[in-house]
Amino acid sequence: MGDPSIAGERTMTSALRIDAADLELDEIEQHLAATGVPRFHGRQIFQWIYRRGVTDFDEMTDLGRELRAGLATHMAVNTPTVAKQERSIDGTTKFLLELADGNLIESVFIPDTPSQTFCLSTQVGCAMKCAFCLTARMGIIRNLTAGEIVGQVRVLLRELQMLGQRFNIVLMGMGEPLHNYDATMKALRILGDTHGLAVSPRRVTLSTVGVLPALERLASEPFMPNLAISLHSTTEDQRDRLVPINRKYGLQDLLDACRRFPLKRRNRITFEYVLLDNVNDTPQDARRLVKLLNGIKAKVNLLPLNAAPGIPFERPSDDRVNRFAEILADHHVTVSVRRSRGRDIRAACGQLITESTRSSTPGQRLATRMETVDSRQSAVDGHSR
Ligand code: SAH
Repeated sequence: MGDPSIAGERTMTSALRIDAADLELDEIEQHLAATGVPRFHGRQIFQWIYRRGVTDFDEMTDLGRELRAGLATHMAVNTPTVAKQERSIDGTTKFLLELADGNLIESVFIPDTPSQTFCLSTQVGCAMKCAFCLTARMGIIRNLTAGEIVGQVRVLLRELQMLGQRFNIVLMGMGEPLHNYDATMKALRILGDTHGLAVSPRRVTLSTVGVLPALERLASEPFMPNLAISLHSTTEDQRDRLVPINRKYGLQDLLDACRRFPLKRRNRITFEYVLLDNVNDTPQDARRLVKLLNGIKAKVNLLPLNAAPGIPFERPSDDRVNRFAEILADHHVTVSVRRSRGRDIRAACGQLITESTRSSTPGQRLATRMETVDSRQSAVDGHSR
């Protein structure tokens, strides 16, 4: 409400202010020190943002009135806004979030698995072009900043009234985390800071197609999340087609890197394997998978395809899925089948796709509109099944 010209002015200046949401605690402290404010106020600010969910300096009541006013002139805590929220019959909730530049991303809350899980995006779109994934259709629009990655957690905690509760994080939303390495790692450091949310690395799982140089770098990170590898195939040829980055970083090299990956005691690497009917789901595939994983502390997570319009594959029958799982289990490979959550609201793996409100090209908008028409059709199909 009020004078629209003033609101406009405010938006303008907020773009010029330093974004505290994108800073680690020591960076906030350095910034304060550089402006003549004692560093210890950094911790207070950090606690307000992450432990109490407060983003307005004026509400940070243990800071002096003058300091609060001063901070508000050159700092802001930028937070994605909720453009849409959809709740599935199974409780899974998909959030469509709008970023400062109008781009849209999706984040998903998956309850009771048995823990509460936040599935976060790391990019707007994705560059990896996996043949069965809907996000791939968007192409890569841009990387998220660390502040935007962490911002998804802040928004979900607030919207779900979960402040103070425990949660897990999976980096399995839109984007390839190792293709946005620096921002992803910075986000994990901000999330892990004991003055803020103190998310332990054990509660975080990073899922990747296997960008090898980045995977090698990850091996020496102090904040080491659990690792999930999107394998999806047991031969170089087929993986070249399903997960095109394989042409650059092949299956054998990826598995060698996994063998070298430093794992804490009792920890294992998860191998995700999307099951495509009559493509990679035969008993021979299962047996090859057993062989490939020999010597790796591994567990396998089978993901029966979440079908979508325009995706040229089918979901295998439950019988085929079970047969595949049994072969792994018979050979002492720990295996689970991912029960898809939120399929009715298109919040399941590989089903996240958004249309940007401002910055997309007309071509991208058209492509997305066509997807949307398709998916409405599929929703209708789904009901009649
Ligand atoms: N880029 C990362 C994380 C995002 S996707 C990665 O690829 O690992 C999380 C998981 O969902 C990946 O294993 C991905 O291959 C899988 N996935 C993508 N599309 C899917 C679909 N249509 N059905 C089932 N799983 C899918």
